[in-house]
This record gives sequence, structure tokens and C-alpha cells, in this order.
Amino acid sequence: MASEPIIRHETYPEITPPTEGPLRRDTHTYDLMRQCIHCGFCLPTCPTYAVLGVEMDSPRGRIYQMQAVAEGRLDISDDFIEHMNCCVGCRACETACPSGVQFGKLIEAAREQIQLADKQPEARTQTVPASEQEEERPNAQGSVAGKLLHRFFFDYMLPSRPITTLVFSGLKIYQRSGLQKLARSTGLIDVANGLPTPFQGKLKLPEQLMNSASGDLFPDLLPEITYAIGVRRYRVGFVSGCIMDQVFRDINEASIRVLAANGCEVITPPQQNCCGALHVHGGEAARGRELARRNIDTFEQYNCDFIIINSAGCGSTLKEYDHMLRDDPAYAERAKTFSHKVKDISEFLAGLTLNPQMGEISRTVAYHDACHLAHGQKIRQQPRQLLKSIPGLRLTELKEADWCCGSAGIYNIVNQEMGNELLERKMNNVAATDAEIIATGNPGCMMQIDMGVRQRGLAMKVVHPIQLLDEAYQQGGLYDQAQQVDLEHRSSGRQRQKQRQTLLIGIGLGFLLGLFLLGRRKK
Ligand code: SF4
Ligand code: SF4
Repeated sequence: MASEPIIRHETYPEITPPTEGPLRRDTHTYDLMRQCIHCGFCLPTCPTYAVLGVEMDSPRGRIYQMQAVAEGRLDISDDFIEHMNCCVGCRACETACPSGVQFGKLIEAAREQIQLADKQPEARTQTVPASEQEEERPNAQGSVAGKLLHRFFFDYMLPSRPITTLVFSGLKIYQRSGLQKLARSTGLIDVANGLPTPFQGKLKLPEQLMNSASGDLFPDLLPEITYAIGVRRYRVGFVSGCIMDQVFRDINEASIRVLAANGCEVITPPQQNCCGALHVHGGEAARGRELARRNIDTFEQYNCDFIIINSAGCGSTLKEYDHMLRDDPAYAERAKTFSHKVKDISEFLAGLTLNPQMGEISRTVAYHDACHLAHGQKIRQQPRQLLKSIPGLRLTELKEADWCCGSAGIYNIVNQEMGNELLERKMNNVAATDAEIIATGNPGCMMQIDMGVRQRGLAMKVVHPIQLLDEAYQQGGLYDQAQQVDLEHRSSGRQRQKQRQTLLIGIGLGFLLGLFLLGRRKK
């Protein structure tokens, strides 16, 4: 008797692949994810895989899940969201990948797809795999207050300079009035942190992170034009950033001085706005594109040779405006032109013969590679080259210099436990150096490492490389001379203006006298 065919009665859930959004089968993103050959070379370089040891929290595992969503084999489930949001976006996997997978673009696409599915991103609060977590995870972003804060941050604060200024003026008042000291010494901050709010247990870290913002309470716009010191070599546009100009105003001012010291006329358009980097990294791609268009409109008016940025995270997004706007017929070509002009300040200056009028800085510095410079823009040697060009400054080695510090935009605020794990590893290496200064080209890394330095009580200063170059020029007396030249230039300008006025009055009086004499002759 013929045996009955074995029929398996397993049922699989019906999942429809997305019909719109970047994780569809017929997209550019789908082609990018299919470049992955599953070799696993990226796994040892991935910080989240190093901490969790879970394939789904590795680059290869994440790409696998994205492809499964695109093909309708996987839903945009809570697990999927969690694995995507757990990625720090460091792009170390891109550096390791032999197949040229552009993971940064993929993770941004996945997060955009999550936003389109109208699912609120969740924060991993424990550094153990999701499957091993027993209790329901508290989640500030998932609450109504968290959602409102999320919308305020991305839709209202970042795109508007007045609102950003107002928010950060509040922070500066808190820091400068002595309130911060009081809150810390009396334990008030711990009380606030423990209150049963949606941010319970999550307030302390941002408070520590934002330790000392520089600049005025309500900083003026940076000057629209700063003239080159000496002969003008280039006309460059300067991107002042949104949070950068509120928290690290001193770095922006130093950047403009150093550019001017090296023959640049620096244009800082007052109408520029946030570059959209935090939006794009967080899945708010539509808003990011809108900001990109506005910046292109603004900078086009000035016809600059280059567009300079001093923040690694922003720079990597500005260089990808062409990718972000590739499907926009009105902006695709203009975005290409814009992106080709963008240079990180260290990349730009390293390509010049530097003004050599520098004084000595007899100290030891270690350099931390910001992920979006080293992995995102492949800029590693240029900042080191600048530091080495400063007389007296000794550059010492930092182990795992290009390993993420856990900052990653606002990652350290929403995924605090993972952020802290990564900071711990970074600080072990920082503490092992003999450096007095840690230099890094990204404001987020500066805040994160500075917090680590304070937590460990290390006698180290955390700076942007451009601040050291600026200090060297100050020591070399370059700005004093330039000021002198500027004053002489201005006073000779005033003299010329006076001469012109005298000449015009003379001509006017001569003309009136001529009319008078003509009138008398006719009589
Ligand atoms: S971007 Fe960084 S954290 Fe994310 S998968 Fe790649 S290496 Fe891992
Ligand atoms: S190294 Fe590149 S190709 Fe290999 S698994 Fe990782 S992403 Fe895929």
C-alpha cells in the first residue's frame, strides 16, 4: 500500500511587504542590502554585537532583518524596531566590509520605514538580549510625554534657531546661576531623577552630559562675512550648526578665526538652519530632506568655493544631501553640487599649506576618531596631521581610537545603558594614555568623553582639534597683528571716506558758486 504523503500543517503569518517607504523590494535600498554577502567580517567591529553577542544586533543580522521586511517575511515588529534602534550608527561595519555595503544608508532607511509604519521607536534600556528581558521595559519615548517631547525636539526645536536658543538659554541659566551646583550638592537632581515621571531614572545623564555650554545666553548670529587675514585664497561657507552654536560657540568662533588665518573669506549665512543629521539618523527623513533643501537654497546664494563644517556627524549628512535628494527632480543636481563642496574643517585645512605663525603648546594630546569622520567620511590622518603641525604638541596613541564612545547623536540619552557600556570601554583606553588633552572632531563625542573624564576624576581637557590650532595662532601673535592691520585698514578706510566727503562738499560748493556767478553775469 502506497504511503500517504506527509502533510505539514504549520501555518505561517501572512505578512505584506511595505508598499511605500525605503524598505521595499524595488528600491535603491533593496539593491544596497543585497550587496551583503553574509561573510561576517563586520561582526568583530560592531560595538553592539561586542556587548550583546547577538546576531540580530550585528550588522549582518540587521541587514538580514531589513531584507526580510522588504520581502514580506518579517513584520515591523517590536523586536525588529528594537534591533534597529540598538544600532549606534557608527558605521564601523562599513570600514570592515569587503563588499562595500553602505550600512549608514541602510540603517537610516530602516528607521524611516519604522517612522512610516507609525511606530514609536523604543529604547533598549538593558544590555541583555530582548529575549532574555523579563520585566516590561520602561520607555520614556513610548509614553505620551515622550512622544510629545520627541515631536517638539525634531519638529519645532531643531529647525528653529529662536526656539533652540531659548531652550539652551534655560540650560545656561541653570548652569551659571549656581542652580546646577545646588541641585548636585543637595541631591535634588537624584530626587528629580527618581520621581515617577516618564523620564524616571533617565534625567541624570543628560544633566551630566550638558556640563558647561559656552557663549552668551542669547548668542548673536556669527558675522555674515569674516575677511581673510592676508591674501584671500578661498571664499568658504561656514555651517554653524544648531546645537553647536548654542553649546560650543567657542569652537565655532575658533574655526572662523583659523579659516581666516589661512586665507579664507568666511561666509556664515544668517538664514542657514539645522543640517538635518539628527533627523536622518533618527528616521525623521522627510523633515531632514526639508532642512537639506533650505540649506541648499541658502548656500547657493553665496557662490562659495567650499562649504566647511566642524562637526563630524553634521558633515557626514551634508555630504549625503545628494543621496537624500536623489529622487527630487528640483534638487537632485543642486544637492550633488552642494555635497561636493562640503569639507570637514580638518580635511580642508590639511589640504592647504598652513599659515606657520604658530606659538608653542607644550602638552600631550591623544586623538579620538569620531565615527562619522573615520568611518563615515574616511577622514583619519588629516586631524592628526593638523595636531602634529603645532609646535611643541606631542601626539600620543589612543588604543581603539576609532571605537565608538557611545555618544552617537542622542543615542546616549535614549539608550543610556548601552551608551554607558561603550563609554566605559572608551574611558579605559583614555585613562591608559599619558595625554593631558583628548582631541576629537565631533561635539557629541566631546560631551560624552568629557563626562567620562569627570566621572573618573581624570586631569584631562577635552577639546576640538581646531581649538588647539587656534590657541597656537594666538600664542604666535597672529591675531594681534591681524587686528593691528585691521585697525590700520579701518582707519585708512575712514581717512579715505573723509577725503571723499571733503571732495564731494568741495564739488557741491563749487557748483553753487558757479551758479551764483553765472546769475550775476546775466544781470
Ligand atoms: S553601524 Fe555600528 S552599531 Fe550599527 S551595525 Fe554597524 S558597526 Fe554595529
Ligand atoms: S562585512 Fe559586509 S558583506 Fe560581510 S556580513 Fe558584514 S555587511 Fe555583509
